[in-house]
Amino acid sequence: MLDNCQHVLLGCCDAAAGFLEKIGSIGRVRFQDSITIIGSDERVLRVKDSPLPVPLHLVPSIVATNYLSVREKIGLARALTALSSHEPGENCSAREYLQSLSCPDSVIKRLVEPITISALNECAASASAESVRMLLLKVFMESRDGYRLGVPSAPLTEIVEAPALRYLTKRGCKTRLETKVARVNTSGKRVRSLTLNSGKTISSDAYVMAVPPWSLEQMGLEQFGGDRLHWRPIVGVHLFLDYIDPDFDCACIAGEPFGWVFNKTNDFGLEFACLHAVASAADNIVGRSKRELVELALRAAKKASPPVSKSILKRALVYRAPRATFSTTASSKSARPGNITPLSNIFLAGDWTDTPWPATIESAVRSGRAAAQAVIDS
Ligand SMILES: Cc1cc2nc3c(=O)[nH]c(=O)nc-3n(C[C@H](O)[C@H](O)[C@H](O)COP(=O)(O)OP(=O)(O)OC[C@H]3O[C@@H](n4cnc5c(N)ncnc54)[C@H](O)[C@@H]3O)c2cc1C
Repeated sequence: MLDNCQHVLLGCCDAAAGFLEKIGSIGRVRFQDSITIIGSDERVLRVKDSPLPVPLHLVPSIVATNYLSVREKIGLARALTALSSHEPGENCSAREYLQSLSCPDSVIKRLVEPITISALNECAASASAESVRMLLLKVFMESRDGYRLGVPSAPLTEIVEAPALRYLTKRGCKTRLETKVARVNTSGKRVRSLTLNSGKTISSDAYVMAVPPWSLEQMGLEQFGGDRLHWRPIVGVHLFLDYIDPDFDCACIAGEPFGWVFNKTNDFGLEFACLHAVASAADNIVGRSKRELVELALRAAKKASPPVSKSILKRALVYRAPRATFSTTASSKSARPGNITPLSNIFLAGDWTDTPWPATIESAVRSGRAAAQAVIDS
């Protein structure tokens, strides 16, 4: 069993971690001690904790690296220090905001851009300054573990779906899998019932719609602003090889279309050695042929783990998600609706609704909690 595409958490994803804790699977997420970023010049940054107090705990690892020059390190320190006291203006991009804090362009390109692309599905020139500020504060400044990358050590069906179903069933919830809602039937400002694809009708006091905005429209509702969000692709490639370095875990490859490479072999107990490469904000490559995508993924894999150059590719699986997530730009905020709708008994959830987080599991969990609270309040 493989996931279509790698999912990771950060140590600062409190709601997502709380959710996994509640359903009993947080222990199956490996929070790593260090994050490795490899530049196009092959210089390496390994961000890791030290005995220094927060927010200085990551400083020794940044001082020690040759990934950034002395001037860049000073510029980064200046910008990070200024983050908490300087809020960005409205409609400001992450790049404009960081430039206003005297962060060198080269630091934005080599350090911030890999973060915006993988977390916001957007490059720094268009990414929301507000969201990037929140993320940088949470990752670098606010807690000791905020920067840690949480990598699931089993497929998401085992970490999320199965334990969540067990949790719900134990509490008397009925779940209907593979059951599509075809139509929402309204009368006045209320929902009367839902018609399922089977033709069956079900009704309830309240309804939480945790679907993408276009699904709302397919059910006969409006998109509540979601149609103004810009959705961007993610591409994932599994590379099955005859050998990979068992010590290689995962790395971010700055400047490559496939910006992250993960070793799936051990966690997933696979027969073949398997690396997984992920390309976010992948508009430029999503339409390319399987062969081209595999070549790009292999190029990133070789940079991430040089022994890959000598190993033989046995098989590759390509996964394209054309509308993977919305991109978190300065203008996306106004397009994200709250949980309450003009219909009195229907509530919205989903990563694209109005949470402070970009389209992530963290945002999805937060939106679910907020929607549940809105139902209770109503
Ligand atoms: C390739 C890829 C990689 C990602 N990587 C990460 C990552 O590393 N870390 C991270 O935090 N996030 C990542 N994300 C984002 C993360 O997957 C989402 O933020 C999260 O899944 C959103 O959850 P959700 O519940 O809002 O929506 P979804 O997970 O999209 O769930 C919506 C559900 O609604 C169902 N549905 C739709 N229409 C109907 C209907 N008519 N009737 C019944 N059901 C319906 C769908 O089948 C689906 O199950 C990634 C996303 C993609 C696509």
